[in-house]
Amino acid sequence: MLVQQEPDASSFPNGGIRNTFEARGYSAWDPTSPAFIVGGTLCIPTVFIAYTGEALDYKVPLLRSISAVNKAATEVCRYFDKEVNRVIQYLGWEQEYFLVDESLWAVRPDLMLTGRTLMGHESAKNQQLEDHYFGAIPTRVIAFMADLEYECLKLGIPVKTRHNEVAPNQFELAPVYEECNLANDHNQLLMTIMDKIARRHNFRVLLHEKPFKGINGSGKHNNWSLGTDTGVNLLSPGKTASENLQFITFLVNVISAGHKHNGLLKAAIMSATNSHRLGANEAPPAIISTFLGTQVSAVLDKLEASRSDSAIRFNAKNVFKMSGISHIPALLRDNTDRNRTSAFAFTGNRFELRAVGSSDNCAEAMIVLNTAVADEFTAFRERVDARIEAGVRKEKAIYEELKSMIRSSRAIRFDGNGYSEEWRAEAARRGLDCETCAPRVFDRYLDPSSVEMFARMGVLSKVELEARTEVKWETYTKKIQIEGRVLGDLTMNHIVPIASRYEALLLDKVYKISQIGQGLDASADVELIKRIQQHTALIQQLTHDMIEARKVANKIEDQREKALAYHDTVAVYFDQIRKHVDRLEEIVDDQMWPLPKYRELLFLR
Ligand code: ADP
Ligand code: MG
Repeated sequence: MLVQQEPDASSFPNGGIRNTFEARGYSAWDPTSPAFIVGGTLCIPTVFIAYTGEALDYKVPLLRSISAVNKAATEVCRYFDKEVNRVIQYLGWEQEYFLVDESLWAVRPDLMLTGRTLMGHESAKNQQLEDHYFGAIPTRVIAFMADLEYECLKLGIPVKTRHNEVAPNQFELAPVYEECNLANDHNQLLMTIMDKIARRHNFRVLLHEKPFKGINGSGKHNNWSLGTDTGVNLLSPGKTASENLQFITFLVNVISAGHKHNGLLKAAIMSATNSHRLGANEAPPAIISTFLGTQVSAVLDKLEASRSDSAIRFNAKNVFKMSGISHIPALLRDNTDRNRTSAFAFTGNRFELRAVGSSDNCAEAMIVLNTAVADEFTAFRERVDARIEAGVRKEKAIYEELKSMIRSSRAIRFDGNGYSEEWRAEAARRGLDCETCAPRVFDRYLDPSSVEMFARMGVLSKVELEARTEVKWETYTKKIQIEGRVLGDLTMNHIVPIASRYEALLLDKVYKISQIGQGLDASADVELIKRIQQHTALIQQLTHDMIEARKVANKIEDQREKALAYHDTVAVYFDQIRKHVDRLEEIVDDQMWPLPKYRELLFLR
C-alpha cells in the first residue's frame, strides 16, 4: 500500500492535464530519499503522476533530469577515467528568511495573506549602518534557531551554518550539501518545520523574496556540483594534466549550457514574488551571467587564443601547464574570488545559482540546469567522438571542441558589477535574455529549443511543459489578484477611514481656533488637511481604477493573456497607491495608525 497510492487530487494545479471527472493521480514511493517520521506520522517521499502518465510534481522531472546528467556525464568522464560508473549531482542550498513577531504579523493583513508588506514607510534606521551581518544573533532568535536545528537533525537534515543576513531581522541557514534529490526534499521539509518552530517562539517566518521595501530581499542560493562514484569533484581543479583537462571540460560544458539556455534558466527562477527581488539593486539582476574570476577566465582565454593543443602542456611529472601561465592547478585551487552580483557564479569547486527565490522549490532550477547540462554533455560527446573517428587524437579532439565552445559561449561570461546600469545595456548587446516581465519570461519554456531539449533528454514532454507553463501563468495571475484585493481592502477599510478621522480632528481644531481668534494661527493645520485630502482622494481614485482594471483582466480566458493583463494593467497600480499611503503614514497620528510600522516589524526581536 505504501509503494503506490491513488490520491484524488483534482484540486491540484495541473494546467489542464486533468479534468475533475478524470482526476485520478498516482503517488509512488521514491526510495532514493529516506522515509521519515514527523510526530506520529510516517512520511514517504513520493512522486506524483497523472492517470495518463504525465508528471504532476517536481520530483518526477527532477529524478529524470538527474538520471539524464548521470548518463551523459558518465560518458564524458570515460574519456578521462574508465573506472567511473556514475556521476552524482550535489546541491547545497542556503536558505534566507525573515522573522517577525507573531503578534505584529497578525495585525498586518498584507503579511498574513500575501507574505509581504504592500505598504509601509521606510524605517529611519534600516540596514544603512551595515552593522548587523557580523553582529550577535538576538537572544530570542538564537533560541528559535537552536530549536529549529535540533528538529532538523532529528529528521536527518545536516544543518551546518546559521548567521544574520544583511537586512534587519533577516537570517540564513545552510546545510552540508547532499545528493540533489535528497537535498531538495530536505529543503522542502525545512521550510515546513521552520514555520512550525517559529510559532513556538512567537515568531512568524517570512519566506517571501521581498517582504519589505527598501531593504534586501531573500534568496535561496543553490550550490551545485557534479561528482563521480570514485570520489572526484568534476568541477574542482585537480593535480594532474588529465584531471585538469577533465575539470576544464566540465566547466566549459556547464558554461556553454548556461549560455544556450540563459533565458530558460531565468524562467525557472522567475515568479510573481521573486520578480520583486531580481533586478532590484541588491539581488542578481534579471539577467543570467556567469562569473568565473580572473584566473579561470585567463585559462579559458588562453585556451581560446591558442593555436594548437600544445597550449595544454604535460610536463614530466604530468603536471598541467599552460604556456604563459605557470602552476595552473595551484592557481585554480586558490581561486576564492567572490562576486555577489553574479546570478550564476563559479565559486572554485561548484556553481552557485543565486537567483533562486527564498520561497521556491529548488527543483525547478535544478531540473532546467541538469537538463541543459545533460544535453550539452551528450552533444559534446557526439562531436568529440566524430572527431576521434575521423582520426584525430583524443586530447586534440577534446581541445578543439572546447576551444570552439569557449568562443561561442563567451557572451555569458561577465566578471563585472551585475547591478550596474551599464551591464544591462551590455547584456542586451551580447544577446542575453533581458526580459523582466514574469509572464513573458515564462514563454522560454515553450521555445522550440527548450521543448526539443526536454524531449531529447526525456525530462518533460511538450504536453507537460505546456501544462506547467499554464500553471505558472495562472499562479502569477492569482498572486497579483490576491495582492490587489488585499491592497484594496487595506486602503478602503483601514487607511482612508483612519486618515479621515485624523482629518476630522484637525478640522475640529481649525474650526475652534477660528472661533477663538485671538491671533491664533491654524494655517499649518489647514495645509495638513489639504495634504491628507489630496492623498486620500488619489488613493480612492487609484483603488477604483485598479479594481476596474481587474474586472477587465478577469474576463480574459487565455491564461497567458490574463497574466500579461495583470502584469501590465493591474500590478502597475500597487506602487502608485502605496506612495500615497506611505505619505499618509508620515502625517497621521501614530496612535491612530492601524498597521504596525517597519521599525516595529524589523527591530522587535
Ligand atoms: P557562502 O554563504 O559563503 O556561500 P555557506 O556555507 O553559507 O557559504 O553555504 C555554502 C553551501 O554550499 C553549503 O550548503 C555547502 O554545503 C555547499 N557546498 C560546498 N561545497 C559544495 C559542492 N562541492 N557542491 C555543492 N554544494 C557545496
Ligand atoms: Mg551563506
